[in-house]
Amino acid sequence: MKRYFVANWKMNLTHSDSIQLARQIAKLKSSRYQLIVAPSEPYLVGVAKALGRSSVKLSAQDLAAWPAGSFTGETSAAMVKEAGCRYAIIGHSERRQHLGESTELIGRKLQQAIDHGVTPIFCLGETEAERRAGQTKSVLMQQLKQSLGKIKNLAGKKLLIAYEPVWAIGSGRAVGLDDLEQAYMAVRHAVSMLVSAEYFDSKVSFLYGGSLSGDNLAAFLPLPFLGGFLVGGASLKIEEIKRMLDA
Ligand code: PEP
Repeated sequence: MKRYFVANWKMNLTHSDSIQLARQIAKLKSSRYQLIVAPSEPYLVGVAKALGRSSVKLSAQDLAAWPAGSFTGETSAAMVKEAGCRYAIIGHSERRQHLGESTELIGRKLQQAIDHGVTPIFCLGETEAERRAGQTKSVLMQQLKQSLGKIKNLAGKKLLIAYEPVWAIGSGRAVGLDDLEQAYMAVRHAVSMLVSAEYFDSKVSFLYGGSLSGDNLAAFLPLPFLGGFLVGGASLKIEEIKRMLDA
């Protein structure tokens, strides 16, 4: 099965930069990866057009916790779907940190995505302090329980869970392989308790994100449980994307 390679451009590219990079990515041939790009929201439709009929899929970087109505500045799941998104990043640590997103709000966003046929790329991970305190497993369990615990109609729906330790994002310090396996086991255990082991094994892809680049991605490839990668900084340049895909 193909692994996922998600390019999270965050708030980094202008309209013309996004269109240019999308056109370059659309030309890439990858038999090993399902490529997904997540541009800034105003450029979703333009990037969808630039991707054309290529196999590259589109993701939103977020969506609203409500279906429609008076929520100034928000964009609903139905809207991102109509803009061409098959996926949406939900619960990114930067939104938790800078915008105060709670696990409960993230749960409502997950529900919106599920209700509207948008596959969530659900991000979770511990901070440096939590890691040092030996709390990684319990933090992952809490994040999963509080956000995923109440989701209805999850059965049969695909879910991407991206383990992104906060301390690894943009820091140049990627997670160690043993720690990644521990996190995978904690996530599998939690989802098995909250939904079922069968659901996890058949519908969940476990991704890693945090300081990936052409220099270190190859080290993760032998991990059989790893369903793919969520890449921030290194996904902004076509040369670096190629290095990672060719790793
Ligand atoms: C991210 O923020 O999702 C991420 C993985 O960032 P970076 O690759 O820059 O660490």
